[in-house]
Amino acid sequence: MNKVRTAECKCHKVALVCQGEPLRTAVCHCFECQKRTGSIFGVQARFAKEQVSLNGETTQFTRIADSGHQVTYSFCPCCGTTMLMQLSAAPDALVVPVGLFKESDFPIPSFSIYEENKQGWVTFDCQIESYA
Ligand SMILES: [Zn+2]
Ligand SMILES: [Zn+2]
Repeated sequence: MNKVRTAECKCHKVALVCQGEPLRTAVCHCFECQKRTGSIFGVQARFAKEQVSLNGETTQFTRIADSGHQVTYSFCPCCGTTMLMQLSAAPDALVVPVGLFKESDFPIPSFSIYEENKQGWVTFDCQIESYA
């Protein structure tokens, strides 16, 4: 049976449903992920567009990444929860924050990126490929 994971924003007006397993999961220590989460790294899962459905009204914010590509955040206009990100470099994919989901069975991240911004005491007790 197809795995289904669901998430809601803090005020429950926006809902997200992800079907099947993500293409990949990554940890990112960049300052933008730190600002998005308020924590010291972000954990996000990349899905193919057709695996993801978003219900409810969202507002978009676009920034230019270090790569020069655009990253567009869709967030709830009421409570500000970021529900997904779109990368102009990967138009067929959607990136969702793993922390939105109640399910604790997301695959172990395969990448840890922007490690030059990683807080010194953070270590992962699993095999993760790291990129500075
Ligand atoms: Zn909300
Ligand atoms: Zn990041």
